[in-house]
Amino acid sequence: MATDYDAPRKADDELNEDSLEELKARRAEKTASAVDVDEAEAAESLELPGADLSHEELAVHVLPRQADEFTCSRCFLVRHRSQLAKQVKGQPVCRECAA
Ligand SMILES: [Zn+2]
Repeated sequence: MATDYDAPRKADDELNEDSLEELKARRAEKTASAVDVDEAEAAESLELPGADLSHEELAVHVLPRQADEFTCSRCFLVRHRSQLAKQVKGQPVCRECAA
């Protein structure tokens, strides 16, 4: 039957086309994956400082200061106790801010 010859031929043509498309797709995939890797690396390098910042922020809240340190209520910097000038309404003020 003609259709019997036709069918495999069509399939071959389709296979060839598919392989060409596949090659193109693979090339595109390679390019895309290369871009993805770069983006992933960039994202990782971007994520690290962000994670560090949030960790620092968290650490500041959980551990605001050491026993011999205080957080100035005006500049919000952690100062050594020796930098404590006075307390205003129970809030510590460092020498720089009190000056
Ligand atoms: Zn201060």
